[in-house]
Amino acid sequence: MQSTISTNTSQAFIDLEDKYGAHNYHPLPVVLEKGEGVYVWDVDGKRYFDFLSAYSAVNQGHAHPKITQALIDQARTLALTSRAFYNNCLGDYEKFVTNYFGFEKVLPMNTGAEAVETAIKLCRKWAYEKKGIAENEAQIIVCEGNFHGRTTTIVSFSSDPDSYQNFGPYPTGFISIPYNDIAALELALAQPNVAGFLVEPIQGEAGVYTPAEDYMREARALCTANNVLFIADEVQTGIARTGSLLAVCGNCNCKNKCEQQSNTYARPDILILGKALSGGVYPVSAVLADDHIMMVIKPGQHGSTFGGNPIAAKVAIAALTVIDDENLIQNSRHLGNLFRQEMQRIIDQNPLLLQVRGKGLLNAVVVNDSPDSDTAWRLCVALKENGLLAKPTHGNIIRFAPPLVITEDELKTCMAIIEKTVQQFIK
Ligand SMILES: *Cc1c(COP(=O)(O)O)cnc(C)c1O
Repeated sequence: MQSTISTNTSQAFIDLEDKYGAHNYHPLPVVLEKGEGVYVWDVDGKRYFDFLSAYSAVNQGHAHPKITQALIDQARTLALTSRAFYNNCLGDYEKFVTNYFGFEKVLPMNTGAEAVETAIKLCRKWAYEKKGIAENEAQIIVCEGNFHGRTTTIVSFSSDPDSYQNFGPYPTGFISIPYNDIAALELALAQPNVAGFLVEPIQGEAGVYTPAEDYMREARALCTANNVLFIADEVQTGIARTGSLLAVCGNCNCKNKCEQQSNTYARPDILILGKALSGGVYPVSAVLADDHIMMVIKPGQHGSTFGGNPIAAKVAIAALTVIDDENLIQNSRHLGNLFRQEMQRIIDQNPLLLQVRGKGLLNAVVVNDSPDSDTAWRLCVALKENGLLAKPTHGNIIRFAPPLVITEDELKTCMAIIEKTVQQFIK
């Protein structure tokens, strides 16, 4: 598959990964060596627009000077203490991040999957100690098409055979329902021993499935009525990606005090963040909740050697500060509208493309071909040749998610690249 279009230089790097690395990914045949803002460069010096942003981790743009400086300074001062001792960074960060998102407590972890695991553990413990569910009986409702990470427990409730097949035996305690289906949620909530509802406000990996406008709020209300924890996995959708601070904020215009202003806000009981929490320079994830939930975890009952380390603390403060300083929520919302408008025009003129959907700068285009065809892959290779990197996701869907620091002029240049590529492809 990778081929004619890779140069000798990049082919050598590709061969190296192929020979010595596990084959658990299928990358586009491009070898990157540098990034800045919305751009990345390959080993031959060719420049590309990055329209993946490392799955929305690099919302603040590559090599952001303020975020990388925070990383460098803290790495030189004190990198890791473990949580066996206090350090002079973690408390500041905990105060900052809980204020920023409006929760009483944070539990710091590293990767998204670890944060989801943390949320599951927290939810179960709450169920036994607060809700009074009998031991080992707690159920968590999840959605078909979900992506919450790659641990054994998380893949056990995936509906994608690639994710779960031959990784059993699977843990129990999960009820799977269709996404964006309030009636199905209502039915599931009527089952005994339900402790939580774990959901992505937009299903990113599945292909940027954007639910009905009021799905999150109705789900929130149903959870409240049933004394069930509403758990939002915003690892991909959070932190300005969808044109609001969190996707559960809906259409509110506020920057960070959502709960005060918005009647579209579906405030989760447990909020899961990762990816852009560090601007992509370091693995930083977090679980946020109020005391009545978070305090069920006592010393020694959960942890992580690296979670909440001094570098992570400093980097996350810097990364969240950049979101405010550079108005990335507003930029994401404005340019997301422009992207979909321009993309719709391109779709209207090209039978190769079927649909654009998304919110803010988390968007996907559905290619008009069978889900088993490689059309989306070949279109991504053609886009790469023309200087824009995007990646197919499930079926024949291409996700477009540039860093949120992209300017209107840059976006217009990108739309021209996309249009030209689609036209060349049709011929
Ligand atoms: C990426 C992602 C995860 C997993 O994050 P990792 O850092 O890769 O473990 C979990 N949930 C969602 C919604 C994601 O997009």
